[in-house]
Amino acid sequence: MPTKPPRTWGRSTVDTACPLDCPDSCSLSVSVERGRVAAIDGSKRTPTTNGFICAKVRRFGDRVYGLERLLYPAVRSGRKGDGTFRRVSWDEALQTIAERLEEVRRTVGGEAILPFCYGGSNGLVTQGTTDADFFAALGSSRLARTLCAAPTGAAAQAMYGKMAGVAYEDYVHARLIIVWGANPSASGIHLVPFIREARARGAALVVVDPRQTSLAKLADLHVPIRPGTDVAVALSVHRYLFEHGHADSEFLDAHARGAAELRERARPWTFERAGEVSGVAPAMLHEMAERYRATTPAVIRCGWGLERNRNGGNAALAVLALPAVAGKFGVRGGGYTMSNSAAWGLATSAWRRVPDPDTRVVNMNRLGRALTELDNPPVKCLFVYNCNPVATVPDQNRILEGLAREDLFTVVFEQVMTDTAQFADVLLPATTFLETYDIARGYGAYNLQLVKPAIDVAGEARSNMEVFAELAARLGQRDDVEGEAETMLRVASAIPADVRDAVLGDGAQPLPPGGRTPVQFVDVQPRTADGKIDLFPEALEREAPDGLYRFQADPATEQFPLALISPASEKTISSTLGELRTAPASLYMHGADAAERGINTADVVRVFNALGEVHCTVTVGDAITQGTVSLPKGLWRRHTINGATATALAPDGLTDLGGGASFNDARVQVTRILPAALGERPVSVWVADDASVREP
Ligand code: SF4
Repeated sequence: MPTKPPRTWGRSTVDTACPLDCPDSCSLSVSVERGRVAAIDGSKRTPTTNGFICAKVRRFGDRVYGLERLLYPAVRSGRKGDGTFRRVSWDEALQTIAERLEEVRRTVGGEAILPFCYGGSNGLVTQGTTDADFFAALGSSRLARTLCAAPTGAAAQAMYGKMAGVAYEDYVHARLIIVWGANPSASGIHLVPFIREARARGAALVVVDPRQTSLAKLADLHVPIRPGTDVAVALSVHRYLFEHGHADSEFLDAHARGAAELRERARPWTFERAGEVSGVAPAMLHEMAERYRATTPAVIRCGWGLERNRNGGNAALAVLALPAVAGKFGVRGGGYTMSNSAAWGLATSAWRRVPDPDTRVVNMNRLGRALTELDNPPVKCLFVYNCNPVATVPDQNRILEGLAREDLFTVVFEQVMTDTAQFADVLLPATTFLETYDIARGYGAYNLQLVKPAIDVAGEARSNMEVFAELAARLGQRDDVEGEAETMLRVASAIPADVRDAVLGDGAQPLPPGGRTPVQFVDVQPRTADGKIDLFPEALEREAPDGLYRFQADPATEQFPLALISPASEKTISSTLGELRTAPASLYMHGADAAERGINTADVVRVFNALGEVHCTVTVGDAITQGTVSLPKGLWRRHTINGATATALAPDGLTDLGGGASFNDARVQVTRILPAALGERPVSVWVADDASVREP
């Protein structure tokens, strides 16, 4: 077991890894001077990181030492949400929480307690371990953690058993790369150099995205799709392959089930019909299909943009079926990449000590309703950690209404004063990944690494493991208070020995079972019951109210005709590091939509629908599909004029599969706010000037 590195007053370098919610899981080299972080760089320990990292984490020291860092436990001293707190000891804070939880459990029932967490740290040790055991022992409500990757995960699991995907490094072998619903320039940047190298070697690039992202600008073909119509576009490609004799029937007969049903569902989707719903010219769809048919190796990078709508699960099913129908597996640089988190075959349930109880499940995408409508029992205690739901979860106004409830006891365990932390009754300071141990697993790059503390803990911050173990002891769940090292060992002991030794040692990088660069259908196979691809999974059909490969119409109305998307930006990782974003938000809008409304760049606009409204400036351009507008994902309330962000306009309806979030089903209207209506507010400071608004 590793021990904490010795502290010196000189300069030292610590090899560690990034466990934040990003596909790449970089290897890091952290320079420490006089006990403080002096620089954070990428290291070359993992080939995908190759010595560079994103600008976001290079600045992570600004979070560690920033004015908004939480350093001490505190309890609310003002009104709910006004952000005024009084410092208390850890003993008082934990005792207050323990007594309140026990009282709620005894008087209302365990289900009145709702733990709420997501990927603020995506490490294997800081979530799903002592925290999950603690809430399971309390008999709390269970949380469906479906904010992201639920529909794509459901599709990939049912079709392929989450078979490992094409490695970033193998993109250089592709002759055609399709980037579908992903923007690696903002999230997962280490794929970009491989795409560039493939292009330099002669590969063609196709990008399917409503926005003209920086990769779309480079692309041989940019398919500017209307949000929510990916399933129609993918089915039109299937139809072309099936109906023109281009489907690889030999491969399908040998390795797949459900091809006939898929063909049947694709039959009505001519390029003309798909073009009508997607807004893409039928000739362009034909060109994409023909390029895909004719080029091998061809790889599809399937992102998470295509799942964030009512058709998201079916879109993932249709896109992931393309390599099977077109016969693109079996060669290096051919196939698909989705999430690779399952490639290591780690059973996270293996390191739990307390099994989940059979209590009710609350979908995290409906937090607002859970806090304002759920009954029998109502939520009386909300415990938020690794998450900032005010900024990240749909239906922001309903969430704010719920958090303002005087009878709700809210604990927020956080690194900095987030929009959600403002509503805490008890605030607990959390360590960052530079101050504690963890294990980081990439879900794009094949990296599994030890996260080591590089510096001493700031203030009185504590790790998740420490806090939940201490609470468990105070509530009499356990006699022993499990320390960080014991929790690490518990997780590590469930990892195969050769992989564990490599992770915990400082030597060679561990390899997943299929190797670092697996070729699909050569080195790795579908992990379904019979080893075949299931193109029409019955289990999902039962789950999908309208059946598989169905298309649900656009929810736009005359009143709210514009589709609002909220893609990842270069400023934040989901909402993490939002406190460091100084530039205000700007809505990106197509020139024709702006002209129709008398709107120009730098005007202040009201973006609204029945759920809420956002006031911000606007940037007008042609880098987005007409009829679609864009606000960055992960904004904090301070980034707009009226303190509302894109999630205030996002409905809490669930995706067709997996119970995912339908952010991109937000339909809005945009009007200009005349200067007189802004009163004394300083409009000039709201003129956006950062790169993330130049790329919508
Ligand atoms: S956020 Fe992603 S790109 Fe940035 S350091 Fe972490 S893993 Fe690497």
